[in-house]
Amino acid sequence: MKHIFSILFAAGMALSAQAQVRHEIHVPDLDGYKTLKCDFHMHTVYSDGAVWPTVRVDEAWREGLDAIALTEHIEYRPHKDLTGHHGRSYEIAEGSAKANDILLIRGSEITRSMAPGHFNAIFLKDCNPLDQKDWHDSFKQAKQQGAFIFWNHPGWARQQPDTTLWWNEHTEIYDNGWMQGIEVANGTSYFPEAHRWCLEKSLTMIGNSDVHNPIGMDFDFYKGEHRIMTFVLAKERSVEGIREALDNRRTIVWVKDLLVGEEQWLKELFEKSVKVVNVKRGKGYCNITLQNESDLTFHFQKTEHDKAIEYFRTFTVKPQSRCNIAIYFPETFNGEGKINFRVTNLLVQPNRGMDYSYSF
Ligand SMILES: [Zn+2]
Ligand SMILES: [Zn+2]
Repeated sequence: MKHIFSILFAAGMALSAQAQVRHEIHVPDLDGYKTLKCDFHMHTVYSDGAVWPTVRVDEAWREGLDAIALTEHIEYRPHKDLTGHHGRSYEIAEGSAKANDILLIRGSEITRSMAPGHFNAIFLKDCNPLDQKDWHDSFKQAKQQGAFIFWNHPGWARQQPDTTLWWNEHTEIYDNGWMQGIEVANGTSYFPEAHRWCLEKSLTMIGNSDVHNPIGMDFDFYKGEHRIMTFVLAKERSVEGIREALDNRRTIVWVKDLLVGEEQWLKELFEKSVKVVNVKRGKGYCNITLQNESDLTFHFQKTEHDKAIEYFRTFTVKPQSRCNIAIYFPETFNGEGKINFRVTNLLVQPNRGMDYSYSF
């Protein structure tokens, strides 16, 4: 017995000695703004998730996130015996978030059939008043608390089987000032229609994991995958700073290799990530050396150009790497040259990349 006890004790010691490592995500700050890594949509056992609330904080810390919101379904709580009142998961995670310097934002998911579907209300003061029979009353309650409300996964096939539609209810919600943003991506899915609505209606673009499982079951970090997230361009690293940035639509969504956002932010993010470190021009050729100091990947595709100038058809700039673009032209060519391309994964319009060029 004593022997077994010592083995167990030794095993416990070994486990507790295992260090947790935070993997910082290298994405540049923009002029005047910190680039905060945020996930505003996830679940725990307090709705239909499979993990305890503090685990979400541990996951976020290890993955280099700055802020999360635990957004349990108001209307769907399979473990109701356990769950108590709405907002309980926030209370449980609060201490751990503080200790790990993760900004924790109080939120809930208003979970209705289509229309209007699912919406997250974040920056709530109290989740309980959102539990209402009529969805209008849930939105009213959230709005009264000054919440930031966004439409979740508008292209979710279970609610929009064939096409991603904007319903009359969404017009009503929008006109009432009950919608400030939309998830242009959720999990691993990107919704071009939502992207278009955000641009047309001046709504904030959001991308969230909506994770229910332990995060490692949805994203394979060993293969270099990353959790979908929203880069929030905040004046300061605080809950208030995030709110101010969301209200002013300073976000970029990172889902797989895609970066979705307004062109001014994507352009600056690109220029601050990928720097031209050397241009070597000789007779009939030029080499442009690029250095990518970020964890982001960029895919280039050649666009309209001077036919005398030869360069790549497609070109990929990998994270944390240095690479060379080789350009060829007639030896007689003396003037200024330009290579035009589209960064196909910087989506400035629905399914359309950002045009860019380098001069030499
Ligand atoms: Zn949902
Ligand atoms: Zn959800």
